Amino acid sequence: MKIAVLPGDGIGTEIVAEAVKVLNVLGLKFEMEQALVGGAAYEAHGHPLPESTLKLAKEADAVLFGAVGDWKYDKLDRPLRPEQAILGLRKNLGLFANFRPAICYEQLVGASSLKPELIAGLDILIIRELTGDIYFGQPRGRRVATDGHFPGAEEAFDTMRYSRPEIERIAHVAFQAARKRSKKVTSVDKANVLETFQFWKDVVTEVHAQYPDVELQHMYVDNAAMQLVKAPKAFDVVVTGNMFGDILSDEASMLTGSIGMLPSASLNTKSQGLYEPSHGSAPDIAGKGVANPLATILSAAMMLRFSLNQAEAADRIEAAVNKVLSQGLRTADIYSEGTTRVGTREMGEAVVKALG
Ligand code: NAD
Repeated sequence: MKIAVLPGDGIGTEIVAEAVKVLNVLGLKFEMEQALVGGAAYEAHGHPLPESTLKLAKEADAVLFGAVGDWKYDKLDRPLRPEQAILGLRKNLGLFANFRPAICYEQLVGASSLKPELIAGLDILIIRELTGDIYFGQPRGRRVATDGHFPGAEEAFDTMRYSRPEIERIAHVAFQAARKRSKKVTSVDKANVLETFQFWKDVVTEVHAQYPDVELQHMYVDNAAMQLVKAPKAFDVVVTGNMFGDILSDEASMLTGSIGMLPSASLNTKSQGLYEPSHGSAPDIAGKGVANPLATILSAAMMLRFSLNQAEAADRIEAAVNKVLSQGLRTADIYSEGTTRVGTREMGEAVVKALG
């Protein structure tokens, strides 16, 4: 089991160090190799995703990723910015399926801005297609308009597109994931307005014929955005395209009120995956030892389950995280009165201890 460990920038190095500690006490044999990515790699090698880092990631069974970025790189040319490393990894590894669970831990119900009864017990899984849609569609650019409302004016344009195989494979991923949960998929589209998403809806419906045991519901994205805050527990698996998934997965993750708790996985057809917390590099708290490492530790659990075939070890980590929360340990982002405030390292060590 070969793991490429890419801590990145800001709090990335602090939180990944804790996840590595947790992996090291499971009694499993891993080959872990660390490399620079993002701003750190730009400083050392002049590129956010150096060839050597990409090679390591490609050869590994899984990538454990921290976060990249810092405001100080905002003036660099776009291809050299730290965030390009993530796009480069997704593209080169073919990571088309992004899993973002939004789970509300019973102990943290008070951290949500929604009423406790709406989110207590929340456990939904957003599956976002990650390598297609308007984010990658060509052509795109700026030009002088020859038609439209203002011929002769400067304009910008992007292309929304999905091919049948792209939709089919993400639909299969969603139906198969649903089979391991409550057997319900909501496919989110904008079929009433967009040709691309009428096609999406048609193809998802066709693939559904192979999964008669799974219930399929279609929902327009505007309604999905409303329902997620009105009755989030009505969802189980949600599958959607790249742009809608980008927005809805952030909305869903904030239902739980604690960005420091949310893991994610991005998988390719060979179950090779990149595992990272849903948050960024948090330059505002970097180096202070206060970041919450649990999203990264839970990402390591997803890595064990989805890429390394070690579901039992994944269960153990998740149970250990539950245990430290029940012990009342909280990093600053999830702290509330009556609980015990701890730093990044103490939280990581508490999880290690809870693993017994
Ligand atoms: P962010 O997620 O880094 O931070 C948002 C807020 O949440 C900040 O107040 C931060 O302190 C807090 N926060 C985030 N993670 C936390 C944790 N584990 N524990 C406690 N608090 C936490 O988003 P941002 O501030 O918009 O972006 C900062 C940088 O991160 C930017 O350069 C951005 O491009 C980059 N970014 C990277 C990724 C990634 O690497 N996948 C994702 C998002 C943003």
